[in-house]
Amino acid sequence: MSRFWSQVARDLTPYVPGEQPKIAKLIKLNTNENPYPPSPKVLAAIQAELGDDAARLRLYPDPNADLLKAAVAKRHGVTPQQVFVGNGSDEVLGHAFMALLKHEAPILFPDITYSFYPVYCGLYGVDFIRVPLADDFTINPDDYCGQTWNGEQCGGIIFPNPNAPTGCLLALDAIERILQGNPDSVVVVDEAYVDFGGATAIPLVDRYDNLLVVHTLSKSRSLAGLRVGFAVGHPALIEALERVKNSFNSYPLDRLAIAGAVAAIEDEAHFVECCSKVITSREQLSTDLAGLGFEVLPSAANFIFGRHPRHDAGELAKALRDRSIIVRHFKQPRIDQFLRITVGTDGECQALVDALREITA
Ligand SMILES: *Cc1c(COP(=O)(O)O)cnc(C)c1O
Repeated sequence: MSRFWSQVARDLTPYVPGEQPKIAKLIKLNTNENPYPPSPKVLAAIQAELGDDAARLRLYPDPNADLLKAAVAKRHGVTPQQVFVGNGSDEVLGHAFMALLKHEAPILFPDITYSFYPVYCGLYGVDFIRVPLADDFTINPDDYCGQTWNGEQCGGIIFPNPNAPTGCLLALDAIERILQGNPDSVVVVDEAYVDFGGATAIPLVDRYDNLLVVHTLSKSRSLAGLRVGFAVGHPALIEALERVKNSFNSYPLDRLAIAGAVAAIEDEAHFVECCSKVITSREQLSTDLAGLGFEVLPSAANFIFGRHPRHDAGELAKALRDRSIIVRHFKQPRIDQFLRITVGTDGECQALVDALREITA
């Protein structure tokens, strides 16, 4: 704190990302990165964009990233006017809070969910209500329908699908119930993990003008380091996001990110192969942890969420750390006895299981 801080800076409670340790040789299962490298075509495209002398970096990138919007539109069967792109999906989500979720009535999101949502509410002055998940940690669509505030529907709804950090998937018909129950509010479905076993809600955008679906290339496309995310929705929703973006930073995606992201989206074969490897490893890891006595929630993501009935989660995380394995532990009501474990390579998963077998013996 200093006298130079604005009132806004004073009042913020910033998001705390999972740690990115500078130590080599760690088994890093704490931030849901993909254990496999991105498509080799991504690196080739970035090198081609650089050219021999990197002279092109002299020039600004395309402010609209039209090539990337076209690639996303083609891949998902929508028009480029239905696509917004940003510097990681966190930025896309941030713009959505400002452009589409800030209204008189509070917005709704689950009590256990991506912890960036309340942070954006703090930054942009958005009122919110945490809606408790059911006892089995699933979202009940009815909890998001029917309430009013001074005669108005909620200011908007946002949740990840599959949810984070639980990994639980909501079926598309349940999402449709939420959309139908809130025709005058925007519903943002954050599909950061949908490629690991969920069905995307993108095909619903033509029928629901209140649906915004947000994706990232950080998880299923192995490009957390490149910072690319996108949203798909009705052109009117996209226009609101563009208005905020163009009032903040005209060039959120640099030349290398645009080139690399296009190549990643076009390499369907590499994408399908990586996702299916992660899914296979996830199922094995869930089985192995259940064998050690863990209660593991059914996951449709690239991580699993589980607890051991006889071992404190904080102590397990610490014991793993002593063995150079890092996982995520949230000191938060309802889930403070759970660990969130990113699915690594089969070798990394095996090392984790071996360590936990030793620790829980
Ligand atoms: C990882 C994650 C994001 C952010 O992804 P970036 O594109 O890397 O900013 C958004 N939402 C959820 C639920 C995530 O887990």
